[in-house]
Amino acid sequence: MINPSFFDEGALVAVLTTQPLDRALDYKAPEGGCHLGAFVEVPLGPRKVLGVVWGAGKGDYDYAKVRSVLRVLDVAPMRTEMRSFLEKAAAYTLTPMPAMLRLATRAPGLGDPPSMRKVYRRGPDEPDRMTDARRRVLEFLAEYGDLSFTLKELAELSGVTSSVIKGLVKQGAVAEEDSPRDLPFAPLDPNLPSKELTKDQDRAATHVAEAVRAGRYGTTLLRGVTGSGKTEVYLEAVAACLSAGRQALVLLPEIALTAEFLKRVEVRFGARPAEWHSGATMTERRRIWRMIGQGQAQLVIGARSALFLPYQNLGLIVVDEEHDTSYKQEDGVLYNARDMAVLRASLLGAQVVLSSATPSLESWANAESGKYTRLDLEARFGPAVLPTMKTIDMRAETLPSDRWVSDTLKRAVDQRLESGEQAMLFLNRRGYAPLTLCRACGHQVGCDQCDARMVEHRFLKRLMCHQCGETKPMPTVCPSCGAEDRMAPVGPGVERLGEEAVKLFPDARVAVLSSDMYGSARALKAEIEEIAAGGADVVIGTQLVAKGHNFPNLTLVGVIDADLGLQGSDLRAAERTFQLMRQVAGRAGRAEKPGTAMLQTFQPEHPVIRAILAGDEEGFWRAEAAEREAAGVPPYGRMAGIILSGPDAAQVFDAANALARNVAPLARVGAQVFGPAPAPIARIRGRHRVRLLVKAGKGVTLQGAIAQWVSQLRLKGDIRLAVDIDPQSFY
Ligand code: ADP
Ligand code: ZN
Repeated sequence: MINPSFFDEGALVAVLTTQPLDRALDYKAPEGGCHLGAFVEVPLGPRKVLGVVWGAGKGDYDYAKVRSVLRVLDVAPMRTEMRSFLEKAAAYTLTPMPAMLRLATRAPGLGDPPSMRKVYRRGPDEPDRMTDARRRVLEFLAEYGDLSFTLKELAELSGVTSSVIKGLVKQGAVAEEDSPRDLPFAPLDPNLPSKELTKDQDRAATHVAEAVRAGRYGTTLLRGVTGSGKTEVYLEAVAACLSAGRQALVLLPEIALTAEFLKRVEVRFGARPAEWHSGATMTERRRIWRMIGQGQAQLVIGARSALFLPYQNLGLIVVDEEHDTSYKQEDGVLYNARDMAVLRASLLGAQVVLSSATPSLESWANAESGKYTRLDLEARFGPAVLPTMKTIDMRAETLPSDRWVSDTLKRAVDQRLESGEQAMLFLNRRGYAPLTLCRACGHQVGCDQCDARMVEHRFLKRLMCHQCGETKPMPTVCPSCGAEDRMAPVGPGVERLGEEAVKLFPDARVAVLSSDMYGSARALKAEIEEIAAGGADVVIGTQLVAKGHNFPNLTLVGVIDADLGLQGSDLRAAERTFQLMRQVAGRAGRAEKPGTAMLQTFQPEHPVIRAILAGDEEGFWRAEAAEREAAGVPPYGRMAGIILSGPDAAQVFDAANALARNVAPLARVGAQVFGPAPAPIARIRGRHRVRLLVKAGKGVTLQGAIAQWVSQLRLKGDIRLAVDIDPQSFY
C-alpha cells in the first residue's frame, strides 16, 4: 500500500508508540490532519503516550470505536529515511520496533511547548541619567547590533551587576523579551583555514572530501598510527560536508569526547558544535534533538546514541576509534553503532569514515574485499616517531610475590623521572586486588548474586563485583571458617600498583586513573587533562588511558601484564590484546620526545606478543584472518547468541533445551546450534543465564530463521530471551 504523505482529519492512521506492543495501532487523524511521520500524542488505555504516524491505518477495527490522535507535537515529522532506518535496524538486531523508537526519542519533553526565557537587547529609549556602568552596557549592546543576551551573559560581558541592567529595563533603554530556550547552534564556518596538510594527509583528505561532495554512499577505512593526523583528515571531510549544506556526525567513544577535542573542532570551524553524551543536561538534549530536526545544528560530536538523532540532511558519519568495544551496546537494544552507522549512511546516500590506529578485523576484511576503501597514513605528524617496543621477560626477573614492577622497568621509570618526563604504568584491572582469600582455609570471597569473585576496592573501602556491581564491606572474619584477620588480597589492581609505585618512586607524584574512582565521566576527563598537562610524574591507569588522549610529556609506557588479555576463550582475545597494546604504546612520545613501550610478559615468544613487538600489523591481521576463516567464525561466518535467563536454573535450562530440540528453521538455512550451556557469566543479579550459540556461513541471512526459531518457544513465568546478533563479548 502506498502511504499518502498527509492524512485529513478522521482518516485512519497507524501509530507506532514507544510502549511494548507488537504492532502499530489505528487512530483517527486529529483536527487539522497530520503528516506521515508526525510525532503525536495518543490515548492508550487511561494514559497519553508518545507515538509516530507510521502509515495508513489498517482499518481492521470498528471505525466508530477508534480513538483520535490527541495532538500533533510541534517538532519536525520523522523522515521516511529515518523510519526505514529504524525498521532495518530492528530487523537486523531482531529488536521490537517500540524499543527502536525509544532509542530515537531519547530527549525529554519533546511534546512540551517550547519553553521560554528572558533575553535583553537595546531598547528604544535613553536613560534619564548616564553612569559608567550604564554606558558600558549600552556601548556593549551597540557593538553587537541586534543581538540579544541573557541577563547573566549581558552582566558578565559588560562587567556590571544585574541590577544595573534591570534599572535600564525600567527606563526603556534595554528591552526585556521572551525568547525560546531552544536556540539554534551558532553557524560553523567550513572555510576557515585548515592546518597545512602533509602529502599523505592531503591525499587522504582529498579522497574523503570528494566522496562526500559526490553525495553517494561509501565507507572509507582511515588507518594510521596515533598522531598521524587522522583527525585532521576527517575534519576536512566534515568541512566538505558542511560546505555542501549537509549535516555531519562524529561519533567517539564517550571517554574520548573531551573538552580538548571539542576545542579543536571549535578552532577549525569557528564555533562550538552540538555535543551529545551521557553528561548532557536534559534541556541540552532536548535542544539538540529539536535543532537537528530543524536543520539548525550542522555538526554533532557524540557518543554512540547520537546515531539515532533526527538529522534532516546527514551527509557524513565519522566513527573515530572504530574498533572500540564501547560502540556495541550490551544491554537493552543490542546494537553496534559502527555497523548501524554504515546502514544509516547507505540509506541516506551519505559517506562513512571509520578511523582507527588498530582497525577491527571486521573492517580490515571489508577493506580487503573491496567493500570499503582503505586509506593509510604512514607516519606520525612532525618529528614524533613511533615508540620503540621491547619485552621484559618476567621469567628472568626475580620479584617477590607482592610486587609487580620489575627492576628493569623500575630503572626505566627512574630515568624518565630524572629527566623530568612522565611515565605510565598500564594494568587493565580496576580496584586493589582481583581476589580476596582467607589464609586460614583458602576460601575466596565470591559475589552473592553471581558466580564471580569479589574485587577489593580500597578507595571505596568495599568489595565489588565487576559483573553485576554488587558491593559489600570487606570482611574482617572469614565468612567460611570464621578465622579473624586472615583475609588477604591476592594479585594486583591499579590501586595496589599505585601503592607499589609510591614506595618505588618516593619523590614522584603518582596518580591512579580508573573509571570507578571518579563520580562522573566529566570529573574523570578533567583529571586526565590535568595529568596530561603535567599534574603527575607517574600515571597508573586501566584501559581508559589508552583512548585517544594526548600526554605530550609521556615518554615511557610500562605494561605490567601483557599476557592478561591472551588468556580468555573469546575469539577476539588476540585481536583485543593486539589493539590495546598498540594503543597504549601509542600514548608514548607524541610530541618531540621519542617514546618507549615495555611489555612485561611470561611468554615473549607468543605470536601475538611477537606481532605487537614487530609492529607488523598486516602480518598480524593476515594470520588472524586465516585462523578465523578456517574456523568459520566472524568476519568469515555469521554468529548469534541467544541468552535465556530467569530466577530458576532448571526452568531456564528446560526452555533452552526445548529450543535446541526444534532447530528446523535454522537447519533450513544451514545454520548450526551449539549448547545450551551455562553462559560464561552464569548468574547475574540473581538470574541464571543459559546460552545457545548459532553459527552459519558468511552468506546466510540469519535473522529470519532465528526469529522463526525463537517464536516457537512460549516463554513461561519470568524467563526472558535476548538475541545478540554479531556478539562481541561472549557472555
Ligand atoms: P590522530 O587522529 O591520527 O591521532 P591527530 O589528527 O590528532 O592524529 O594529529 C596529532 C597531532 O598532530 C595533533 O595535535 C594535530 O593537531 C597535529 N597535526 C597533525 N597533522 C598536522 C598538520 N598537517 N599540521 C599541523 N599539525 C598537525
Ligand atoms: Zn555479582
